[in-house]
Formats: sequence, structure tokens, C-alpha cells
Amino acid sequence: MKLIGKGSKSYSILAAKCPQCHEGEMFQNPNPYRLASMFEMHTNCSVCGLDYEPEPNFYYGAMYVSYAYTVALFVAVYVIFAVFMGWAMWPTVGALALILVALGPFLFRVARVTYLNIFVRFDPNAVKKS
Ligand SMILES: [Zn+2]
Repeated sequence: MKLIGKGSKSYSILAAKCPQCHEGEMFQNPNPYRLASMFEMHTNCSVCGLDYEPEPNFYYGAMYVSYAYTVALFVAVYVIFAVFMGWAMWPTVGALALILVALGPFLFRVARVTYLNIFVRFDPNAVKKS
């Protein structure tokens, strides 16, 4: 299994590409910080036709993925600021809040793409088949 580059899960997740063909965009606007359109997803992959919502309310499960990423982020930020830099509790909490708000739209997308990636495998022939 590849860890980086096309054909790897990390590529699909970080670039918000279709988990099956790694070509099609999952979100209508590639910029997650366009807040007015950050929730708007395509219904199907424009390249291989993968259904992005395999069942109703599929992305409720992405909340758990988002939670896991957020906990990992909190632990990382805490270790960096409180342990290595010796910050007191409230400045560390403030830094956590700012970083979470700043990364919020990005984490939202990453959680959704990760969740779909759990159920869909990369298929190098997906483009040819459609
Ligand atoms: Zn696709």
C-alpha cells in the first residue's frame, strides 16, 4: 500500500479527491475556506461516477472521524505548547481554540473524505471502466 502520492489514501484525503479514482473532486469549491460553499459536495464523482453518498445521512459517521482528528490535534498542540514551550494552562487553551477555529473548515472536509475512504478502495482501472 502506497503512503503518499496518487493511489494512496493520504492523497485522496488531503486533496479531497474521489477515493475510487483519485481524479474527481468531492467538493464543489476546492477551497475549504469559502465558508458559504464549504458544505456543498458533488453527488457523484465526475470522472468514475462513484456515489459520494452511498446511503442517506452517510456522513453522520464522519463526526466520529472529526472527533478523532480533533483529539489528536489537541494532544499535539498541548504537547508542543505546554510541555515543550512551557506555556501556562490558559494561553495553551487559547492557542488550542485559535488553532481549532483556523483549521475547522479543513478538518471538516478531511473528516468526510477520510470517512468515505474507509469504505471505498482506490481502483486504478476506475476511470477506464466508466
Ligand atoms: Zn472517481
